[in-house]
Amino acid sequence: MAATLIKGAEVAAQIRAELKQEVDELKAKHNLTPGLVTILVGEDPASVSYVTAKQKTSHELGFYSVQDNQPPDITEEALLKLLDKYNNDPKIHGILVQLPLPKHIDSNKVLYAINPDKDVDAFHPVNVGRILIGNYAFLPCTPAGCQELIVRAYGDPKGKECVVVGRSNIVGKPMVAIMIQKRQGANATVTCVHTGTPKDKMIEHCRRADILVVAAGVPKYVQADWVKEGACVIDVGVNRIGVSEKTGKAILAGDVDFDAVKEKASFITPVPGGVGPMTITMLMKNTVMAAKLNAGLIKI
Ligand code: NAP
Repeated sequence: MAATLIKGAEVAAQIRAELKQEVDELKAKHNLTPGLVTILVGEDPASVSYVTAKQKTSHELGFYSVQDNQPPDITEEALLKLLDKYNNDPKIHGILVQLPLPKHIDSNKVLYAINPDKDVDAFHPVNVGRILIGNYAFLPCTPAGCQELIVRAYGDPKGKECVVVGRSNIVGKPMVAIMIQKRQGANATVTCVHTGTPKDKMIEHCRRADILVVAAGVPKYVQADWVKEGACVIDVGVNRIGVSEKTGKAILAGDVDFDAVKEKASFITPVPGGVGPMTITMLMKNTVMAAKLNAGLIKI
């Protein structure tokens, strides 16, 4: 039987509706308007389209939104000074610096200069540590989006075998950190496989997975015979495998052999349309959490 598709856009719309209600309540009850600044250096078309989408969503949710465009030749010093300004701006609760930055700027230096309580991408080492300890306000957007998809489509991961393929700092490792939390929506038994795992062992681990999260960046890597019957498969991969002759647009594939795996899994995310649409929504959720943190409505 074919798996149920987990449609990221539908889940994202549901979360945004919940957030809108929360924002309205924060304004009415606490006179608190979440504030987000997105900082764009240069005019890279992909980056422009990402920040535009982030700004559009934050406006729709009723945030105080600032789009700060900086020239491609801005100095590192000037960018750090700008961050200092937003770190000290009481109306701004979330700061997002769109990556990649030009080569003359040290990205880590910039990201680490963001006040961790305003670091809504959750890339700052303080937030990475907080997440591992289990004492955090927000999570990196992509793995947090995967968790939402798992919980809302498949159900409680507690006690389930969760295997994560890939150990990058932005997806694989935080996914592991999220799923091992002793919290609702997590509490799974987690295994992480990567290029250091012999292939036969990796397949063995994948076959045990009730929940399989794949973030390897290798198109159609995970095969149907690696997947347990009835598993929930979350495909994070976004790989360009060609260009459509008809539209001239990139043809995308995930890290999972979708057509074959969907016959084995009980739930599966398509690519595109699965994990992708969740990322901006989770950024919005983080901004609301950052505003509540700043106002003392939540504590970490
Ligand atoms: P990454 O930084 O390249 O990391 C890939 C990870 O997978 C590494 O840990 C690597 O292992 C592991 N890996 C690579 N080949 C493997 C193999 N053959 N077997 C087992 N493990 C393997 O990539 P990423 O940033 O995590 O992204 C992964 C994929 O997700 C990419 O396709 C990316 O485009 C996509 N992505 C999508 C979203 C979204 O919003 N939908 C967001 C972020 C990323 P080593 O550590 O040993 O090198």
